Amino acid sequence: MEAYDVVIAGGGPAGLAMAAPLAGAGLAVLVCERNAEIGLPVRTSGGSWPEDLRALGLPDRLWHPISRLSFESQHSRCTIDWGGPVGCSLDVTATWRHLADLAAAAGATIENGTLVRLERTGALTLRHGGESRHVRCRLAVDATGTNALLARQSRVHEGFRRVGVGYEQELSAPAFGQDEAVILVGGLAPSGYAWAFPRGGTRVRVGVGLIQPDTNLNPRELYAPVERALADRLAGAELLELHSGRIPSQEAPQRLTGDGLMVVGDSGGHSNPLLGEGIRHVIVAARRAAPVAIAALGTPGVVPRERLRAWERAGRRTRGRSWGLAMRANRYVAGMDDADWDRAVETLGRLPAELATPILRGDILSAPLLAGALRRGPSSAWRVLRPFVMGGRVVGPADLA
Ligand SMILES: Cc1cc2nc3c(=O)[nH]c(=O)nc-3n(C[C@H](O)[C@H](O)[C@H](O)COP(=O)(O)OP(=O)(O)OC[C@H]3O[C@@H](n4cnc5c(N)ncnc54)[C@H](O)[C@@H]3O)c2cc1C
Repeated sequence: MEAYDVVIAGGGPAGLAMAAPLAGAGLAVLVCERNAEIGLPVRTSGGSWPEDLRALGLPDRLWHPISRLSFESQHSRCTIDWGGPVGCSLDVTATWRHLADLAAAAGATIENGTLVRLERTGALTLRHGGESRHVRCRLAVDATGTNALLARQSRVHEGFRRVGVGYEQELSAPAFGQDEAVILVGGLAPSGYAWAFPRGGTRVRVGVGLIQPDTNLNPRELYAPVERALADRLAGAELLELHSGRIPSQEAPQRLTGDGLMVVGDSGGHSNPLLGEGIRHVIVAARRAAPVAIAALGTPGVVPRERLRAWERAGRRTRGRSWGLAMRANRYVAGMDDADWDRAVETLGRLPAELATPILRGDILSAPLLAGALRRGPSSAWRVLRPFVMGGRVVGPADLA
């Protein structure tokens, strides 16, 4: 029977980033991606931070720089002006393919159009073009994203019940300013937010994301009002691509390993729940998971769970100390109405960029944010930090007064 040291289910950023160091260590690695091509269809908006991406070794050609970020609610607007390219939007397909090239150059085999299912510990079924085959592996990696298929099949965790669901159009919009991203909050995207991220040239990604089951609305139905709200900036726009995707939006699973199984990336709750930013985080998670896997594979046979214990610790640490607070804020803002958002946007607009930025990055416990918030006095610090402390749903307007 076909056999590998490691089979990675999922050719997203987590699976591809994990494959390179494993193959580089001389292991026989197979990455299976159920879609016919790596990086297509696009399932993410690709917003990120150049400094972090460079630290991960990604080249500048993969992103379009962004210097300003505006927040717009029904009656308020504020702009965080970085005065330079502090944010960016990734060329998602090119980035995934760059990671795939690194994995292939290190010796990993990448098989597209192949769906992985767990048969039992150390045994998988691969379905490709209507045909199934059985393969053996000493370690399987669940990098299947929100699907978390192998984690669910092996009962490592039960999957995700609360998820962010996004719908996005990539447009050619010549009138859209290419150095400013826009986030729209409030009734346009109840229990979520809408966005417009410039992508370079005349390209812009315009989308809306909602948290289900907080709302039963479908983001696709809410898209047209978002375009209308941006009508002046989208004058003459033409549709280029449609994107959609799902991201976990609940407390992260505690368990990340089973016999012969590691769970990495969105499937392991490695995206930051505040704004649903995951790309750089899942790459970090994958690169921390790889040495644990390499060490565990140092002895023969299927890897027992106890040899993966280091990943239980490192995988949780990857989420960062702020993520519990980010999750509380996620639940808090999901309950905000238009008036709440007007006030929140005003508060954000009063913050200097060096305080607003760590909030947007989900670095709630960063020293500059905490020190800066406290320097502004207790009542304004409380306004900034309240969602992270209180969590849950806003109970009424008085709560935010
Ligand atoms: C609408 C939306 C917007 C987002 N915007 C941003 C953003 O602006 N910035 C940011 O940083 N993050 C963003 N994210 C989050 C980010 O996309 C994810 O955190 C990141 O892609 C997770 O990477 P991953 O490799 O863990 O999972 P995924 O990217 O989901 O990759 C999993 C892969 O596994 C494949 N797969 C699933 N099941 C199987 C199977 N059984 N067999 C084989 N293959 C399988 C899938 O086809 C997929 O290619 C967004 C997410 C969504 C949904």
